[in-house]
Amino acid sequence: MTDVFGDLVGQDEAVAMLRRAAASAAALLRAPVTAPAGGHDDLDALAEEYDGDPAPAPADPGAGMTHAWIFTGPPGSGRSVAARAFAAALECVHGTGCGTCPGCHTTLTGTHADVRLVVPEGLSIGVNEMRVLVLRAASAPSGGRWQIVIIEDADRLTEAAGNALLKAIEEPPPRTVFLLCAPSTHPDDISVTIRSRCRVVPLRQPPPAAVAEVLVRRDGIAPDVAEWAAAAAQGHVGRARRLARDPEARQRRDAVLAVPRRLTGVGAAFDAASALIEAAEAEAAASVAEIDEAERTALQTALGAGGTGRGAAGAMRGAAGQLKDLEKRQKSRATRAQRDALDRALVDLAGFYRDALIMALRAPVAPVHTDTASLASAGAQKWDAEGSLRRLEAVLECRAAIEANVKPRIAVEAMMLALWRG
Ligand SMILES: [Zn+2]
Repeated sequence: MTDVFGDLVGQDEAVAMLRRAAASAAALLRAPVTAPAGGHDDLDALAEEYDGDPAPAPADPGAGMTHAWIFTGPPGSGRSVAARAFAAALECVHGTGCGTCPGCHTTLTGTHADVRLVVPEGLSIGVNEMRVLVLRAASAPSGGRWQIVIIEDADRLTEAAGNALLKAIEEPPPRTVFLLCAPSTHPDDISVTIRSRCRVVPLRQPPPAAVAEVLVRRDGIAPDVAEWAAAAAQGHVGRARRLARDPEARQRRDAVLAVPRRLTGVGAAFDAASALIEAAEAEAAASVAEIDEAERTALQTALGAGGTGRGAAGAMRGAAGQLKDLEKRQKSRATRAQRDALDRALVDLAGFYRDALIMALRAPVAPVHTDTASLASAGAQKWDAEGSLRRLEAVLECRAAIEANVKPRIAVEAMMLALWRG
């Protein structure tokens, strides 16, 4: 049986929690609401009312439904997969997330009228975007169940956008549910006030065996390839699938893992830095090119490019502004895509030095990169545990520096020099 939660790998506790909540939400919808004067305008009040009902009330208060949730976990653990699955379960005609009814199906394919998904394409989610969203989320659900807003990467909310969201979470419309995804509940990721209004669904990094199992079962990937990819992706399900299926992703990884061998001098270190940056730029450019072009064409069509006649001059001025906005959005998205590509490369590289470190320590742990294990072992002999650790730290510092807005090229050059010197 594969219902909407079938794709959540190795997250049994979270799935159990979400199933209980979905059942509770379905019961809320079935419960006759006898709204007293003044009305109940939030879900907690509805839930309390329902709890008072002699019908099966959730014994555990944590089992019930609430209107704001945060899904936390490391990248690739399936935060947005979990949020979408939960949304589907809430919109499910049967209230269980059967996976086959129109409610489940349209939610999972992104076409449900009452489910809105915010995927930040740039470096942050702005206040205007959030205001529009909050306003639309306040309307009654057209399907009679829930209005759902899913915010991927809620850690990228600007402060103003966070405040707009907070207002909506503090005074939630009766049938609106907010599902936020963030790496953690650390104040750097999500404001303390928003956090305090949400129930947290912690996801863990799925073990490689669980990732491999789902690649075999769902994607039909050969077991040996699935096992290799799951280990190499370090628990990141999407990354594992790409490695198993996409030869270009494998080539990029091979190039990154060749870096330690290539660091033979200062010149080589700078060359390696350039190669890494340019590879990330090329990967990012390829990933956004198609959608950029489609957006430009759509906007030009909408603006009636080339139109003449009365009012055309005024329209042109407005059009120039809109084109400029679009260019700004696309530039922000390209920057994000470059950073994501570079970060994937750094995670691969960190995995290599981590392998060297565990080998130097003779720790009984499986290597991340089985295909470069002999190289890591040679490194372990040459550098010892201390030198391996220093190199691992250089890679992690580079990631942190880029996250803190140091220019990527400068951070990567510093890292390559540190890797060479040791
Ligand atoms: Zn369903």
